[in-house]
Order: sequence, then C-alpha cells, then structure tokens
Amino acid sequence: MFDPSATREQVNAVIQILHEEGLSSVSAVVRDTVTVITEGSGTQELASRLEKSPGVERVAVVLGAQRLTSRAFREEGTQVTVGARAETVIGGPGFAVIAGPCAVETREQMTAAVDVVVAGGAVMLRGGAFKPRSSPYSFQGLGLAGLTLLAEQRTRTGLPVVTEVVTPKDVECVAEESDMLQIGTRNMQNFELLREAGAAGKPVLLKRGMAATIEEWMLAAEYVMHAGNGDVVLCERGIRSYDRSTRFTLDLSAVAEAKRITHLPVIVDPSHSTGRPHLVAPMSLAAAAAGADGLIVDVHTDARSALCDGAQALSGEQFTTLMSRLGPVVEAVGRTLAPASAPSLASV
Ligand code: PEP
Ligand code: MN
Repeated sequence: MFDPSATREQVNAVIQILHEEGLSSVSAVVRDTVTVITEGSGTQELASRLEKSPGVERVAVVLGAQRLTSRAFREEGTQVTVGARAETVIGGPGFAVIAGPCAVETREQMTAAVDVVVAGGAVMLRGGAFKPRSSPYSFQGLGLAGLTLLAEQRTRTGLPVVTEVVTPKDVECVAEESDMLQIGTRNMQNFELLREAGAAGKPVLLKRGMAATIEEWMLAAEYVMHAGNGDVVLCERGIRSYDRSTRFTLDLSAVAEAKRITHLPVIVDPSHSTGRPHLVAPMSLAAAAAGADGLIVDVHTDARSALCDGAQALSGEQFTTLMSRLGPVVEAVGRTLAPASAPSLASV
C-alpha cells in the first residue's frame, strides 16, 4: 500500500522491482494499492525489499483466497463514495440510507416515492429497471426506459442512484445511466457478470446469495476487486430458511462477521429479507445496532398497485417514522444519520 503522497514514479519503481523479480503478474492496481499474486518461496524477502522502497507505506503478505477483501490486506474500513456528491459515502461515519421503489414503473410513481425518501434523509435512490424475477410471467422491469426514468430522478434531486444489472451485456449501459451497479442475490455467483461489473469503473453493490456462505460472498467480492474495482459494498439481504412466515431470514450475525473479516462496507436490506413492512423497522434498527454501514429500503407510495414486491414496501409515512427512529440507535453506536440534505426538488 502506498503512502498517500507517493508519486507516480515511486509507484512505477515498485512495479519495476516486481518485474525484475519475474512477477509480471501484477494482478490488480486498486486505488493506493498494488496487488501481486505470487507463489513459492522468497515472498518475505521480497516484502522487506518493497517495504524499503520510497512511497511504500505498508506491505501486507496475505495468504489464502480472500486476499483483497480481507482486513489483513487493509486494516481500516474502506469508504465508498458514490456519485459526485461528497455526502454520499458508505462505510464512513454516516449511516447511509438508500431508498426507493423495488422497480421503476412510471414517472409519477418514481416522483412520489423519491419526494418522500429525499425528505426523510436518504442519501441515495434505488429502483430496478432490469428485474430478475423468479417467474417469467412476472413484470420484468422497464429495461432501458426504466434506466431513463431513474436517471431523471438523479437529475431532479442531485442524489446518486443504484440499479441492478442482470447480464454482462448490459453492464456498460447500466454503468452509463447510474452511479452504482447492483448485483442481485440470484447473480452473486455469476462470475462473468462480476468480472464485467468490476471493470466498469462504477461502485458495485453486491448482495449476498440467498444460499451463499459468508466465504462464498467474500469470494464473489474478490472477483469484483480482482477486476480492478475497490469500491465494493456488501449487502446482507436474507438467506433461505425453513420458515415461511418471513420471506427470507435476515442473518445479522453475517453483518457482524463480515465487518470483522473484511474492510468493505456492509449494508442491510430489511425489505427483501423480511418481505413484511412491519418487520422492516425493527430489523433496520437491529442492523444499525449490529454495526451495519447503512440500509437499502423499498418505498412505494401506493404499494397495492406496485408491479413488484408491493407486499414489503414501506409507505411514505412508514419511511418517515423509520428515519426518525433510526437516529438515536445510530448515534448510540457512534455513528450519525447522514444529514437530510434537502436538495431542492425540481419537477419533471
Ligand atoms: C432488489 O433489491 O431489487 C432485489 C431483487 O433484491 P435481491 O437480489 O436481494 O432479491
Ligand atoms: Mn424486489
């Protein structure tokens, strides 16, 4: 890892040493860090040589498959800034709330939901344009038209937007129209998609597979980071269990465990995990208490008419109440609820 003031020449000199050692496979250059995957002897000697190079702050020898995601690689938590707005940071002192409808449906629906979430203090908007539905007969999302409607809300509010990408061929256009790429639970191990998303130059929100172990989740993040992208945010969204009274089972122990083993920020989706609006608030408060860095919450101002996941969406009023209840819990664990930025809302 380089000193923040390291010059390009100093970085290149280190890369040159690696080349001299026959390590042409510098596998990733992420932010201030050069990663080399090497095998065999001589690693410790090389590490001490690199440590003496100007501009180098720390050399970590990390063994095992979780190289880039592990705390051994980077001790301090990674902060991911999304979009151009300095206030939207995930993994910093602020507890980041992302909110909006599950799916983009119409301009009116988006405007109504976005008005509510902005007033409540969300720092980022959500809305799916490409929906990975369990049934081929369910609403599949508006596709490109949905991306445009979402981007319209970004312009109107100045807030960044996150949206799901379901296939590698759409990565480029989704990256162009949004500020963060969401990889859904059903695609957590779509390795081609992870690689493409990692190379797209936008932060990635990586949801945990509904039947994935924590290790598999970290390895999926490893794919994105290995493609050169250090801006990965993990999202616990519930795992499959035997109990059908909740949609999935929110695994809050995975949040605390992930925070222990990785430097990446971890957020929670209390909507998809529970599937029930009345469980969203208690699980949101619990997530904040467990050390999560934020939430991604479904909000719909007319949930009965929703084309996707209306059964779990919070109404505007429920979202406002949730935000007011979150403040004290977030503060009790030494964080702040990112201040309501109250961007002026132009009409569209
Ligand atoms: C979503 O957030 O819109 C979504 C489909 O979530 P998940 O992949 O967690 O089911
Ligand atoms: Mn959904």
